Amino acid sequence: MFIDSHCHLDFPDIANNLDQILGNMQQNNVTHALCVSVNLEDFPRVRALAESHDNLFASVGVHPDYENLIEPDAPQLANLAHHPKVVAIGETGLDYFRLKGDLEWQRERFRQHIRAARQCNKPLIIHTREAAADTLRIMAEEGADRTGGVMHCFTESWEVAQQAIEMNFYISFSGIITFKNATLVKDVARKIPLERMLIETDSPYLAPVPYRGKTNQPAFVRYIAEEIAKLREVSLTEIAAITTHNFFNLFKIA
Ligand SMILES: [Zn+2]
Ligand SMILES: [Zn+2]
Repeated sequence: MFIDSHCHLDFPDIANNLDQILGNMQQNNVTHALCVSVNLEDFPRVRALAESHDNLFASVGVHPDYENLIEPDAPQLANLAHHPKVVAIGETGLDYFRLKGDLEWQRERFRQHIRAARQCNKPLIIHTREAAADTLRIMAEEGADRTGGVMHCFTESWEVAQQAIEMNFYISFSGIITFKNATLVKDVARKIPLERMLIETDSPYLAPVPYRGKTNQPAFVRYIAEEIAKLREVSLTEIAAITTHNFFNLFKIA
């Protein structure tokens, strides 16, 4: 069995097709998925998915790419996370690729999420793009190692992976790992301890080969596991088992 540790099933591309998407998961032995929140306005829909399906879970957070919002504060986030199916805070983090200029608001928003995670003792889902140094610095300053979490859709260097692992974080690989030119990511996947590894689709984005460019869905997470099995020269069953175990362990799901 496989688990998709990061997807956006509330986004319209998928939400309009949910029954089929869930059926495809079942057919491909993708038993569980974590539906990740990107803003508070849509959070009730993410939570509703988790409430109405035993095998779906939710997180709460505001993505760093969403500008000009009323900023969430730590107590508010921690309060929304107080729900049996809300298993993480995020996605949060820094994105210096999509947005330019003075991004102090992004860093402050990130800090509020880390404080919320510490208040409710739930792990963080961290997004970082062209901002690894600041991301690691703020994680250290705010004590993100106390809750741990996952560096999602990992595309950074082995050095960044090592520092995140030292701070009690997992590393999650997306469909990018199946792309031919993703040599850096493949290298990290060869090296990191298996007990720190997760897999995700980030659906509806980033469909793996052979569906690159199409709408992604959790059923496709097996292609990511297959690529990792190949890189590590271990069986697909082993990658499936360890990433499933890691998911339940990190998100404290019994
Ligand atoms: Zn992300
Ligand atoms: Zn995402």
